[in-house]
Amino acid sequence: MSSRGKSSKVSGFYKMPVEKRVEFVKNFSDLTDEETRIFSSSLDIKTADKMIENVLGTFELPLGVSVNFLVNCKDYLVPMAIEESSVVAAASNAAKIARINGGFTAKCTNPLMIGQLQILNAADIAGAAQNIMDHKKEILLLANAQDKILVDLGGGAKDLEVRILDSPLGKMIVTHLIVDVRDAMGANAVNTMCEAVAPMLEEITGGKVRLKILSNLADRRLVKAKAVFEKEKMGGEHVVDAFLESYTLASVDPYRAATHNKGIMNGIDALIIATGNDFRAIEAGAHAYAARSGQYTSLTTYHKDKNGNLVGEIELPLAVGIVGGAASMHPKARLCRKILGVTTAKELAEVVASLGLAQNFAALFALSTVGIQKGHMSLHAKNIAVMAGAKGNQIDKVAEQLIKEKKIKLDRAKEILAEIR
Ligand code: NAD
Repeated sequence: MSSRGKSSKVSGFYKMPVEKRVEFVKNFSDLTDEETRIFSSSLDIKTADKMIENVLGTFELPLGVSVNFLVNCKDYLVPMAIEESSVVAAASNAAKIARINGGFTAKCTNPLMIGQLQILNAADIAGAAQNIMDHKKEILLLANAQDKILVDLGGGAKDLEVRILDSPLGKMIVTHLIVDVRDAMGANAVNTMCEAVAPMLEEITGGKVRLKILSNLADRRLVKAKAVFEKEKMGGEHVVDAFLESYTLASVDPYRAATHNKGIMNGIDALIIATGNDFRAIEAGAHAYAARSGQYTSLTTYHKDKNGNLVGEIELPLAVGIVGGAASMHPKARLCRKILGVTTAKELAEVVASLGLAQNFAALFALSTVGIQKGHMSLHAKNIAVMAGAKGNQIDKVAEQLIKEKKIKLDRAKEILAEIR
């Protein structure tokens, strides 16, 4: 039984009219009428004008919801803001298969972020590095004096690390300030602390602090998710074997791994955007982590269990927040967080990782069986119909004919449209 008391498992959700889907989400997530109206509203221009510079307007993406997600025994409807067709459907389908064996199990480490301070021109590099560690207590105290709120919540600067790097400029010291950022993404919090402790580090080392900024390789803030995908639901053990053959290429070849990981980010970015998080930070962290061994590789791994079922696992850094940044400012981000029902950044990260695994499973499953285009085609045909100039119910008519003829081409769409008219 899901800890939420409600099931996110729905059949034929995609066939419902939009109003019915909104009604379902409203009931599932206890939305008010006012919150429900946010779905069809745009970000108001005054808020937008406070968020970035030189504002002219806003830019909309479709917002959908993936169904069937069960993560750590809790049901989730997963909001996704994305322009690419088939992604939401694929995630929902993968989650449906995963829930047969209990859904996803996911675990996030403490939300530790790394702030970097680059120290140049220290006369005695080894001595300066030692001095930094000898003053660890004072440095952490000064860092923590910058963010009382974070410290009161049990977070704050927790540790220091010192690295000595060779570079074209000669040896340099890089100090890592390790900060527990609790439910924030943490960039502003960490950057403020780094800037505050820089003069103290200059005094201690006799050097010059150049860069003082967060690292997006958040490898102290890792999330793992796992699921078992039932062989019978996949079409039998031979499909599991075909899946594993497909996966193997991503594990050894960066050309394939880049595309494989892009598929993972299809899901992850969509949820990251929907919750007002920083997708560039997530992307940078994910790809840097995928290359941590020196060779860029897959963020997921797969194997077959003793029953012949497919076991999928994902591990990546996820610097996500439920407070601060756009997560707090954007009304749709707040709405999406309520739909999810997450109460901590850790919980959000666990759902994000599960979604990434679901997305990757769905893509490899399609690639190992019918190919990726089949699922894409109906929406792609509609896009082509619109490009050809179809309007209203002409769009479906043109798309249906294109699919029937198995020729989804713009020139043919124009011909069909002319025939209809
Ligand atoms: P923030 O400064 O808006 O909010 C974090 C602050 O909220 C904390 O410092 C704390 O004082 C307070 N807070 C209140 N309740 C909290 C809770 N429960 N848990 C944690 N903190 C709580 O935001 P941030 O998360 O420090 O920074 C995120 C923003 O920084 C994003 O918009 C990101 O795009 C941007 N950014 C990113 C980079 C980068 O990734 N390299 C660099 C600069 C800025």
